Amino acid sequence: MIFEAEKVSTQVKDRSDWDISEWLEKNKVTELPLGFTNFKDGNIPLDRKQIVKPEAERNAKLERINQEARQSKAVIKRQKEADRIKRQKEMEARKIERAIAKLERDAVKKEQASIKAELKALGQTQVQVDRAARINRQMLLLAEFRSKAQLGDIQAMSRMLGFKKDIISKLAAGGVALNAKRLELLEEILPTFEYGTHINRSKVVAREISPKRQIWIRNHEAKNAALAKGHRKFIGFCHKENKETIFRIYATRDVSACVSCSKASQKRKRELTAKKPREVSENRKRMLEAQAQNLKSFIGVCKHHGETSFRIHDVNSFKCKACSAEAMQKTRIKTRAELESNPRTIELREFLRSDEKNGRVSALARFLGVSITTVSNYGLGNAAIPDQQWEKIKEFKAQLQGAAA
Ligand SMILES: [Zn+2]
Ligand SMILES: [Zn+2]
Repeated sequence: MIFEAEKVSTQVKDRSDWDISEWLEKNKVTELPLGFTNFKDGNIPLDRKQIVKPEAERNAKLERINQEARQSKAVIKRQKEADRIKRQKEMEARKIERAIAKLERDAVKKEQASIKAELKALGQTQVQVDRAARINRQMLLLAEFRSKAQLGDIQAMSRMLGFKKDIISKLAAGGVALNAKRLELLEEILPTFEYGTHINRSKVVAREISPKRQIWIRNHEAKNAALAKGHRKFIGFCHKENKETIFRIYATRDVSACVSCSKASQKRKRELTAKKPREVSENRKRMLEAQAQNLKSFIGVCKHHGETSFRIHDVNSFKCKACSAEAMQKTRIKTRAELESNPRTIELREFLRSDEKNGRVSALARFLGVSITTVSNYGLGNAAIPDQQWEKIKEFKAQLQGAAA
């Protein structure tokens, strides 16, 4: 209920009828005549009157306003365009700046890299130079040492230089470089080295030398003896063949090997790298299959023509048809070239050409008992002239000359 009363009070009530009726109770209506005005002359003063301007003037004003609007629009557009161009130019300038900066950075990097590389190369070269110098020196020293060395000396020197194994031969060949310290040591030891005293000092060790080692020592001594005489071959014991064989000393002087064994090894290597044994056996397999079916050809694998037809000549002979055709063509070209420059062909050709009437070809053909084509082929170098025919041709020429004389 309370809500309803509130609702009513919020509404605006039209009380106009009531106000007029209330007003009419206390007042009287004054009726004004038609055309009544408070202005004495009946005209509205100029300053209060709304002045209506002529149309042309209004249009002109409108046009002016529009023009201004258009102008301001164009100005804004121009401004915008100018701004855009400015921004673009700035962007391009920044781009160029960035590019220049990058170029500069790259140049610096490149320079640094090249300096680094140069330094590295220099460093390496220096190391290489040092190493080469050490190797030269050690080779010189050890060559002299080895020429004087007796049994046991080499092992002793190895131990003195601090090696567990004998690497004197490698050092002497220059394959391994002594470091600076050991080279110094070698220089120190050499002048006072007592040759031939080391085997006696270590007799126990000498007795323990294995048979294989003993053979090696014997071979080594034989080799040194051969080298001393300027020979490149010596008799040594071959472990593989278990007998004395000829050994060859190679250019490096430190490598020597049994001649027959190295030959056998080379042969094995050649056989291992021999051409396509698999492919040949595959073709042979296919050939045998085809032959079993009484066929004269089969599809094999040619290294030039791939999967292609092969002709079977006999059990041991089959050939790619394309290869044979090519070979035949080559032979034909070669034979033809040979025939063309063959003295018989040239002589016959000259003889046949010397007859202007061209009757000589048919006369010779009759004389030889062959066709005109065959004679032409003889003259053109398309066919070889058999000895028998050549004799006849000479006879024919002699007869002709006789007749002329
Ligand atoms: Zn051998
Ligand atoms: Zn082929």
